[in-house]
Amino acid sequence: MDATDLLLRLALDPADLKPAPSRAANAQDAAERLGPAPVPCAACGDPARSTRIIHISGHGHCWLDLCRDCMLAAANRGNPTVPLADTLAALKDAARKADVDLTILVDEPLARP
Ligand SMILES: [Zn+2]
Repeated sequence: MDATDLLLRLALDPADLKPAPSRAANAQDAAERLGPAPVPCAACGDPARSTRIIHISGHGHCWLDLCRDCMLAAANRGNPTVPLADTLAALKDAARKADVDLTILVDEPLARP
């Protein structure tokens, strides 16, 4: 996922990101930005749990600091979703082919259409 896609997924305006040096973020950056007084998440303002430097065409290098939830949301958005029934059918088929007894427990909210 390139920086433009990532910003689109997070609905972030590149102009709102802080300028960063033109290099990759390192352990010292992480300690400074995510330490006892973490910088705010660029998307929601909660304390950031990850940081990276991204290059955005027309904006240069910028810090992208994200909280856990926004980081996970960005990673999961846009992924194709598979209906639960298809996933269960694939699991059952694989278990049958492997001659394995399989019990599948599904969390109730996931089972709802
Ligand atoms: Zn956030």
